[in-house]
Amino acid sequence: MERTLIKNLRENVGREVLIKGWVDVRRDHGKLIFIDLRDVSGKVQMVALPSHKEAHSSANTARPEWVLAVTGKVNQRPEKMVNKEEPNGTIELEITAIEVLNEAETPPLDVRGDGREINEEARLKYRYLDLRRPRLQKNIRIRSEFVDRVRQFLFSNGFTEIETPYFTSTTPEGSRDFVVPSRMYPGKFFALPQSPQQYKQLLMTAGFERYFQIARCFRDEDLRADRGFEHTQIDIEKSFVTREDIMRLDEEMITTVAEAMGYTVKQKPFPRVSYKEAMQKFGADKFDMRTEEEKKKGVLAFAWVIDFPFFEKDKEGKWTFTHNPFSMPAPEHLEWHLKGEHIEEIITQQYDLVCNGFETGGGSIRAHKPEILKATFKTMGYDDAKIERDFGHMLAAFRSGTPPHGGIAHGIERLIMILTGEKELREVQSFPQTSSGRTAVMDAPGELSKEQLKELGLKLEK
Ligand code: ASP
Repeated sequence: MERTLIKNLRENVGREVLIKGWVDVRRDHGKLIFIDLRDVSGKVQMVALPSHKEAHSSANTARPEWVLAVTGKVNQRPEKMVNKEEPNGTIELEITAIEVLNEAETPPLDVRGDGREINEEARLKYRYLDLRRPRLQKNIRIRSEFVDRVRQFLFSNGFTEIETPYFTSTTPEGSRDFVVPSRMYPGKFFALPQSPQQYKQLLMTAGFERYFQIARCFRDEDLRADRGFEHTQIDIEKSFVTREDIMRLDEEMITTVAEAMGYTVKQKPFPRVSYKEAMQKFGADKFDMRTEEEKKKGVLAFAWVIDFPFFEKDKEGKWTFTHNPFSMPAPEHLEWHLKGEHIEEIITQQYDLVCNGFETGGGSIRAHKPEILKATFKTMGYDDAKIERDFGHMLAAFRSGTPPHGGIAHGIERLIMILTGEKELREVQSFPQTSSGRTAVMDAPGELSKEQLKELGLKLEK
């Protein structure tokens, strides 16, 4: 017999079916044994009657989280047993045979509740069990649907999805790099990308014009509720555009996807707030514009923040970029930028998208001429040799017919946190890091053997 998914049982009343899944709960009423079986599509109550002797004794031994294949007849429940709360509350399965596909030890954590009371270490050590809880199943599926709809939107707007390397050289996004030692070049290291920024710009040089990628980014920074070592971005770049073009395209994408998924967007087009206004009004460049009522209803209040200063002073008092060194200054400040004058007054063509108090995305129109990018690094105090060594490839590309271009990237986890109302990044990732920076389930980071260290040309300091 072919397997029937539990969500389709209601169409099979009166028929014999085969279902497969996990024991959710088992209630022993002596003669009658009830088991709720759960599969990817839903849950159903099953009953083992003493008249089906073998099935009854299997039902007697089954325990929560065992994996079963169950044959049985779909019956309408008697009127007084109907549970209107559940999709399958009107039916039950009368078990005729049970095949145990796998047993399970008593789970180290309860997978049925929402799990917030369980400590993080246990949840992440047994993440494969933790992920069985309905809340996480839902979050991960919402994420998948969200990414699917983003892809559909971008494909239908003529974008090409292109992968870029993980083994690369540094791309500054204001964080520390994760590095990977090279075996073939002992003493040399790859950096994992903090973002695909340089590659996506090089794809504009290459003439793709409309690029996107669901891109993993790696940043070695202090972990917080909304920040992990790795996150995924919807990364977009387009040629021959203005700031307005990108903001409008992006707004349409976000609105189309969110509304198709049943969410309400507070204000369209998204309000635009200058950085200066935001700081005066909210004291921060991310803010929440919802009323209490809208917060309860899960409304999405997006806003653009624009007109950021290009540079700020770092801890040592040196100029550094506020967002992205590859950005283009505002047209009226281009001359100052090229001459290195009025640095603190130069505005960048950067835009950040905020939603419900979080920064969920950001991008800019880029410098596409070598002298503009070079001026940025000069302001940051880089000498010609360092600029050439670190970014010579970008300057060479900009001398090879790079069109004007710009783009944006959205942190998928932050968006999904907002959609699902979660407060922690790890509630919307399958196998997140612990807050102390270790991986879920597997014990990493770990040590290397003497042989591996030797092969990589590495010596550890005691
Ligand atoms: N690369 C930027 C970031 O990761 C986004 C962008 O400017 O497109 O924040």
